[in-house]
Amino acid sequence: MSECIFCRIAAGEIPADVVREDDQFVAFRDVRPLAPVHLLVIPREHVASLDEAEAMQDGASARALAFIAATARSAGVAESGYRVITNTGPDAGQEVMHLHWHVIGGTRLGGMV
Ligand code: 5GP
Ligand code: ZN
Repeated sequence: MSECIFCRIAAGEIPADVVREDDQFVAFRDVRPLAPVHLLVIPREHVASLDEAEAMQDGASARALAFIAATARSAGVAESGYRVITNTGPDAGQEVMHLHWHVIGGTRLGGMV
């Protein structure tokens, strides 16, 4: 059994509030939401961080973006707007070493970037 928490969520071995999934990606609610909409999108395939994204299957990056956009649309924030964040490595404070995109919205997010 994998020790990676997001691999285990993707495999259905530990519960998560899944809002969208296909054969390559899963979107679920962050357990500690920072905004009314705070979702995490992960590839089912274990990739440790964006720094290893080259290891993803051909075309997976483009499909990831389309999946993120579809997830945001079904969460109701496509028109109001949202932010997509990928923490990569120690300076960004990456906690879970399985590539994930935070999809955050549902409120004015301020101007960090
Ligand atoms: P990072 O800091 O690595 O970019 O973000 C990891 C995110 O994963 C955090 O926002 C944290 O709340 C979330 N998280 C960590 N463990 C779990 C979990 O078991 N379930 C869910 N749904 N979210 C988690
Ligand atoms: Zn993993």
